[in-house]
Amino acid sequence: MERVRHPEQAKAAQDDRIIDGVALSQQVQREVAERVAALKARGIRPGLSVVLVGDDPASAVYVGSKERTCVELGMNGETIRKPATITQDQLLAIIAGLNVDPTVHGILVQMPLPKHIDSDAVIRAIDPNKDVDGFHPVNVGRLWSGDRGGFAPCTPAGVLYMLQATGVKTPGAECVIVGRSNIVGKPMAALMLQTGVDSIVTIAHSRARDLAEITRRADILIVAVGKAHLVTGDMVKPGAVVIDVGMNRIPDATKKSGTRLVGDVAFDEVREIASAITPVPGGVGKMTIAMLMLNTVRAAEQLSR
Ligand code: NAP
Repeated sequence: MERVRHPEQAKAAQDDRIIDGVALSQQVQREVAERVAALKARGIRPGLSVVLVGDDPASAVYVGSKERTCVELGMNGETIRKPATITQDQLLAIIAGLNVDPTVHGILVQMPLPKHIDSDAVIRAIDPNKDVDGFHPVNVGRLWSGDRGGFAPCTPAGVLYMLQATGVKTPGAECVIVGRSNIVGKPMAALMLQTGVDSIVTIAHSRARDLAEITRRADILIVAVGKAHLVTGDMVKPGAVVIDVGMNRIPDATKKSGTRLVGDVAFDEVREIASAITPVPGGVGKMTIAMLMLNTVRAAEQLSR
């Protein structure tokens, strides 16, 4: 694919083919900080409330970094921690309170929730105008119907930002997305189909008869599966742009933790074939929180109009 590199990103990336998620997420955060400052000049401090149920360690880490990033960017970042024994009604009551709290512009309920709670009912209880995760059916509908006033889920929104900021030409490009989850694959497809982005989109999933035959068509290949090194060099068209959303822990005796983080793409071999590729870590993962901050500041702007 033909690409025009963002000058700042070109500087940051050592290898011209590697799309630098760290530099791009910092670029988004700088934009957020400017918009926070503009809101503050009008007496508005954007606020994100995260509800964390239970004591899943991975969720606690994610929530901690969301709260920290909010504070770093001048926003209110509040985490409401509740035990796994909370009832669904109690959780819905917390959300109802946040919906009407004028100091709260973004609401996020960290998933997964305990089994006795209906996650869909919880998501539906969030005011769509504060649903900065973009999971509420109203925002899903807005995304698919081309209404730019809604919120797109943060990970696919971050992927699209990466493509656009690195100058990837999306109109008419064959975009293959591997994975059809509601949080990545499907909204990614909606974003790539948007007017102005204009890609030709194929979504593959576990029932694909010949995955390699499908992925080899891609000018832009986006992989969100959760299987280490699923996509190998022979599955990629020379010159394709490859975006690896996967985050998988594999054993690594050389690391203190005994594991290391890898994506769904066999990075070392695919980087030799692709015209651009995101690393793991340091790629898409960095963008997700940045896009959450962008959605939150936008929620504050829209709610204060
Ligand atoms: P998910 O809900 O488990 O969905 C995985 C998708 O991959 C499903 O659609 C599944 O197909 C498909 N799949 C499974 N095996 C396959 C195979 N062999 N060939 C083709 N497709 C296959 O996962 P997710 O929530 O979308 O997450 C995907 C990955 O992205 C995970 O590693 C996750 O950790 C990572 N992730 C990263 C971020 C980030 O910020 N970087 C955010 C979210 C997710 P079926 O539908 O047919 O089962």
